[in-house]
Amino acid sequence: MITEAVNGTLQAPAEQAHPAASAAAASFAALLGKLDYLGPADIESIRQAYRFADEAHLGQLRKNGDPYITHPIAVAAQCAEWKLDAQALMSALMHDAIEDCGVTKEELVERFGAPVAELVDGLTKLEKLEFDTREQNQAESFRKMLLAMAKDVRVILIKLADRTHNMRTLGDMPRSKWQRISSETLEIYAPIAHRLGLNFTYRELQDLAFRFLHPWRYEVLSKALNKSRNRRRDLIARVQREVEAEFASHGMSVRIMGREKTLYSVYRKMDNKHLSFSQVTDIYGFRIVVPELTDCYTGLGVLHQLYKPLPGKFRDYVAIPKVNGYQSLHTTLIGPFGTNIEFQLRTHAMDVVAESGVAAHWLYKASEPNSDMSQRLGTQWLQSLLDIQQETHDATEFWDHIKIDLFPDAVYVFTPKSKIMALPRGATVMDFAYAIHSDVGNHTVSARINGEQRPLRTELANGDVVEIVTADKAEPNPAWLSFVKTGRARSKIRHHLKTVAQEKSHELGERMLSQALRSEGIAALPTEDGQYQATWDKLLRFTGNKSRDELLSDIGMGKRIASMVGKKLAVLLSETGLKPDALLISTERYASGEDESVSQGVVTLDGSEGMSVQYAPCCKPIPGDGIVGYLGRGEGLVVHADDCPTGKRLLLRDGERFLEVEWADEPVRSFDTTVVVTVTNGKGVLARVASSIAAAEADITHVDMGDEPAQTATDIRFSVAVRDRQHLADVLRSLKRTPSVIKAQRYKP
Ligand code: MN
Repeated sequence: MITEAVNGTLQAPAEQAHPAASAAAASFAALLGKLDYLGPADIESIRQAYRFADEAHLGQLRKNGDPYITHPIAVAAQCAEWKLDAQALMSALMHDAIEDCGVTKEELVERFGAPVAELVDGLTKLEKLEFDTREQNQAESFRKMLLAMAKDVRVILIKLADRTHNMRTLGDMPRSKWQRISSETLEIYAPIAHRLGLNFTYRELQDLAFRFLHPWRYEVLSKALNKSRNRRRDLIARVQREVEAEFASHGMSVRIMGREKTLYSVYRKMDNKHLSFSQVTDIYGFRIVVPELTDCYTGLGVLHQLYKPLPGKFRDYVAIPKVNGYQSLHTTLIGPFGTNIEFQLRTHAMDVVAESGVAAHWLYKASEPNSDMSQRLGTQWLQSLLDIQQETHDATEFWDHIKIDLFPDAVYVFTPKSKIMALPRGATVMDFAYAIHSDVGNHTVSARINGEQRPLRTELANGDVVEIVTADKAEPNPAWLSFVKTGRARSKIRHHLKTVAQEKSHELGERMLSQALRSEGIAALPTEDGQYQATWDKLLRFTGNKSRDELLSDIGMGKRIASMVGKKLAVLLSETGLKPDALLISTERYASGEDESVSQGVVTLDGSEGMSVQYAPCCKPIPGDGIVGYLGRGEGLVVHADDCPTGKRLLLRDGERFLEVEWADEPVRSFDTTVVVTVTNGKGVLARVASSIAAAEADITHVDMGDEPAQTATDIRFSVAVRDRQHLADVLRSLKRTPSVIKAQRYKP
């Protein structure tokens, strides 16, 4: 529909033609009148952006019938009030061009350069976001705003200008839209304007939102304020005269302005404190702008001589500025007829900051094109927004997860559906996957970043579009723990691994209890239901477990001893009339490994056991080694080499906790063991040794050089992952053939 405007008549010059176009030209001329702070080249660029936008929006109308281009011009005019630079003004003029006119970002890059194109693109992305003002989603909305400013602070300024103009013209929109747009303005945009110190805009947005949210209350209050203004006119005039005279008599030249609370703030005060309009007394105030900083304090003395100060109302925001940079002295005085009147004293510079906040900083600093500045402002703004978040919410999940992670450095990335996620800098694809949902994280198999396949450990960059590929059967990999950055991803992975470990322990426990029962002459573990229900209940009372599953897990993790539980269970079963099989007892207890049927009771290890089985770090057994299994207390099954001194000590002390284990014929993974290599010292030795290990197709998982001073020979310890003893022998042979290697052997404790 709208693309026709672009593809259609490019030759129609916008400045002449029909009345609508000349109305647009007139408002652009008014904008040009505000640009005296910019140079001729900048103004020419802005003129080009205007022509481009005007053609793009050609034929589109605002709700009130004006040509659409009057809206971008109004937005640019607001930005000119804030003295934003040419790029910002150009972007303001074109801010709806991508969204509404089918103009592409590439086209903007070509015609106006990358910075302007980025700004317009940022505004377009922001426009697409739906802000949700419901309590629990406000956090999310703020997070979305963070993205926009993380890249360029000007995006938010232009956005606020856009919103201000839309609020001013909200009356043209259907009534059904007032509520949503006004709440959003009140809850998202006004607080941001406030925090950024854009006080004028803050007050305007609040009053406009109030007017459209509660038209009737606005009307009543506005009339009441008018009446009271008329009634107090004499009082105000008198105070103004007296204050002017007093300052003049002290030889100080100051600017005095009467000021009035906004309708919305009066309304809020009435609402919060349940006051009637007449009870809200401090509606009036004066602002006194003095030449120098020290004059603020001198001026305060002048005022306090004139009227009596109200105790407890003095605030020194000059010495201690507010977080948004606001500086002023505040005092409330008891004026004529006992009326409370608030006074603010500040310098001209403070006044500019108070009214236009961060934009004022921009104004002062924009003259020197310093890219650091926008970076620094960006950080300030980020801080500001986080402060708002803190004020408006206590402990949402947002804060739990983001507070530490996000600040001060964050990356903002998109889901394929343009949802923005904030992640700590250095966050990887897996952090992103878990940030979306733990189900997504747990089933991740691969990822595409900006359309390209990338490893899961890839660190994310601002603006990346990240797509996660999942598979139902995929499971978390313990290796992910080594690169995830967020607490959320870490705890979700750990939780999953623990659950899996519990399942594995359960399996192991079941096998062990069956084996123990066979040693008592009972061929199979009885089922839990039916005739053995009572037996299981009695057994659980004996062990103190809540359920059969828990008991089996406990056995698997070594918290209960299978043989003892097996004995008890056999006794309980014999009470039900089940007699042990004497032959089975003798084969189980006395037969050795050569009988095929017996090895069923032995626990077979293939390396896939996960966390329920550990290979002892002292002796690091590998397939081919003789091994024994020790059922540690709560640490699951620990596998030692049968000649390991630690294992032997445990066997003497804790014999009943040992069980028979053996290697599977084809283990599914490689196992770490330690190799000590004695080398002559010299250049490049480590590299030669490492490549020799690699040549034998083994992976080095850790190197320990020791730190004795340089001698002629040194021991280097390598942790090497090998398939089995044969593979280890290959590695050692390869090492011994390597120049500079004096000796290479497996480490034995
Ligand atoms: Mn707009």
